[in-house]
Amino acid sequence: MAAKRDYYEVLGVSKTASADEIKKAYRQLAKKLHPDVNPGDKEAEAKFKEVNEAYEVLSDDQKRARYDQFGHEDPTMGGGGYGGFGGFDASGFGGFGDIFSEFFGGGAGGGARQRGPVQGNDLRYDLTLTFEEAAKGCSKDMNVVRDEKCPTCGGSGAKPGTSPVTCPNCHGSGQVVMTQQTMLGAMRVSRVCPNCHGEGKIIKDACPKCSGRGKVRSTKRITLKVPAGIDNGQIITMRGQGESGERGGPAGDLQVFITVRPHKYFKRKDYDLYCEVPISFTQATLGCEVDVPTLDQPVKYTVPEGTQPGTVFRIKGAGIQNLHGAGKGDLYVTMEVEVPRKLTEKQKDLLRQFDESTTGREYEKKKSFFEKMKNAFS
Ligand SMILES: [Zn+2]
Ligand SMILES: [Zn+2]
Repeated sequence: MAAKRDYYEVLGVSKTASADEIKKAYRQLAKKLHPDVNPGDKEAEAKFKEVNEAYEVLSDDQKRARYDQFGHEDPTMGGGGYGGFGGFDASGFGGFGDIFSEFFGGGAGGGARQRGPVQGNDLRYDLTLTFEEAAKGCSKDMNVVRDEKCPTCGGSGAKPGTSPVTCPNCHGSGQVVMTQQTMLGAMRVSRVCPNCHGEGKIIKDACPKCSGRGKVRSTKRITLKVPAGIDNGQIITMRGQGESGERGGPAGDLQVFITVRPHKYFKRKDYDLYCEVPISFTQATLGCEVDVPTLDQPVKYTVPEGTQPGTVFRIKGAGIQNLHGAGKGDLYVTMEVEVPRKLTEKQKDLLRQFDESTTGREYEKKKSFFEKMKNAFS
């Protein structure tokens, strides 16, 4: 590490400089070397740091006296000397940040930012859809309460026939310079003009409709085309349908949060649909034709003879339209075989007769299970 430069040399003042001279020198250097003025310039940044460190010591009578006596090797400061510029880094500037932003009127370009166009806020709207509406798409009217440009004054805030006038307090700059006591002493700092709030203009005769705000709270009916395939928890962004902007800035967005109600018998995963269709044990045994529900008309489906409980059939393309336009999902139908209850004696007799007629080969699973069991015990 290079030897530390003398603090007086850093600030370019003599050893007998007065507090005012030191302050003046420091302010000039700080303005010149401030990272906001020299973005990306490492050398300026290092110099800026050096200048700050020097000023921190020389602006404090006690520290200056010690420095005059011991130089950089102050025995009371530990090994670090006067390097302890607590928390300093190029982005934060520690506790000095506020002072520098005051110097530059809220950072470089800060004054302009205050008065430039500002985008309006985003708005949230919660929209609940039925399962079918989400699956097939729909058109929904939403009543959105938002700020809109005042129709009476066109957003200027001034009574029609009048216009905003230049603020007499800041003469249109939106900034006022004032002297303020800071930890670096009295300083001339730029502040947002309190009279016009940085606008540079004031409204003498306020628009009666918006009381000078330039915008009015209103309920706007907005129609949303909900695309087919939207799902629960998704968000549709409607650009420029949020709150109106300030000073010619664009409007914010309207974020539509989608909730989809559950269906009576369909479940959805991505673009596929799932449902369970109950059939009787005789239908499962003999085979049958059943009506399977879809999002449109029910379709006939031929259940083959000997269908086991839990068998899943896939009906291709009977699912939900892909949100991005590429085809449809499938429908998965689970066969739920129902065992009859509350049989009459006559029905039970018929089943007993049926049972007596079986040989065991009709029940493949049962046969193999009991054979395995027998083998295990023999
Ligand atoms: Zn108005
Ligand atoms: Zn003003």
